[in-house]
Amino acid sequence: MSQDVGGLGGLKPLQIIGDGEQGMAAPVGAPVEAVPGNRTSAKVLVVGSGPAGLTAAIYAARANLEPIVLGGYEAGGQLMITSEVENFPGFPEGIQGPELMDRMRAQAERFGALVVDVDVERVDLSKRPFRLWAGGVEYQAETVIVASGASALWLELESESRLRGRGVSACATCDGFFFRDRKVVVVGGGDTALEEALFLTRYAREVVMVHRRDQFRGSHIMQERALANPKVRVLWNSRVVEVLGAEQVSGVRLQDTVTGAERDEPTDGLFIAIGHRPNTGVFREWLEVDDKGYLAVHEDTRTRIDGVFVAGDVHDSRYRQAITAAGDGCRAAIDAERWLAEHGLAEPATMSAW
Ligand code: NDP
Repeated sequence: MSQDVGGLGGLKPLQIIGDGEQGMAAPVGAPVEAVPGNRTSAKVLVVGSGPAGLTAAIYAARANLEPIVLGGYEAGGQLMITSEVENFPGFPEGIQGPELMDRMRAQAERFGALVVDVDVERVDLSKRPFRLWAGGVEYQAETVIVASGASALWLELESESRLRGRGVSACATCDGFFFRDRKVVVVGGGDTALEEALFLTRYAREVVMVHRRDQFRGSHIMQERALANPKVRVLWNSRVVEVLGAEQVSGVRLQDTVTGAERDEPTDGLFIAIGHRPNTGVFREWLEVDDKGYLAVHEDTRTRIDGVFVAGDVHDSRYRQAITAAGDGCRAAIDAERWLAEHGLAEPATMSAW
């Protein structure tokens, strides 16, 4: 039976101004196909299958809540495009990003989570059970954990995507270690680029920042630190128009944004640090976002809608690590489980249940 959400009495969607980046909506009232053998309603429904979503699923599954995970057509999140992960505790030899995600998924499934590789196209969070449409199927849930992540912005060059994981990266914390005593180029002029460049000076022998204008966008303190670092050199008014190298990055072709002149700069690595976009898509209509466009969290992992929780990079513009996302997923699952118990929808759990 449908129930109003919390005390809000049939919550209305937020007014969206601007492009909205909405997922393509399935038409309201469209017939819903059943998926043979698959559950389509759950006490806990997780959106996203990166470290946050799958950790939430592991915790919810181990609390006997049989969660459904709508993991996206490109399941696994950003770690699927990461090569070696050396900072996730428990893997002293390192582990490939995709393998780490496979293991998390297997762990969630072992305890009864149903993981479906579909994108969520539309949601209705006006009342419980919440309704979500994905792959032409309607799902219903008493609680929803939004763990849809964030995507790094790329330059959108063919050579950049071909050499991703072969010297092209969007994460200095993940991949900086592999560039010990090498030369790297960092693209961008905001705080992320400045932070990545400074981080990379720990390993690289030279860090060349390539920025398309003649001044940085990032904070003054970060600018001062970067410019004072003897390993950092800045190429102003420059943009990367091609990544060079057949199997591995060997350089970048730069274009002067004032004169249009082109030249090649040799490098062993290329770090793209031009920002991230949180995957708020279909939720923007319902949940608040902060001034950077990330989902706003009210208390613990709660949102403005009672029964809807948030975990991982979709709300975190600061840490953006697999381990912090996983920790967040754990918190959201515990919050959802407690919320269900408070509403008489699940047995009160003891901490040992997890
Ligand atoms: P920003 O949007 O602040 O900066 C993006 C940078 O990338 C800009 O310099 C921009 O150039 C450049 N850029 C964007 N698109 C392209 C492109 N296609 N080609 C070349 N260059 C491009 O993103 P950040 O991720 O740096 O920061 C996001 C927010 O997070 C900010 O508010 C920042 O302060 C915050 N942050 C805070 C940190 C901290 O406090 N420690 C660390 C990291 C981020 P242009 O300047 O010309 O627009």
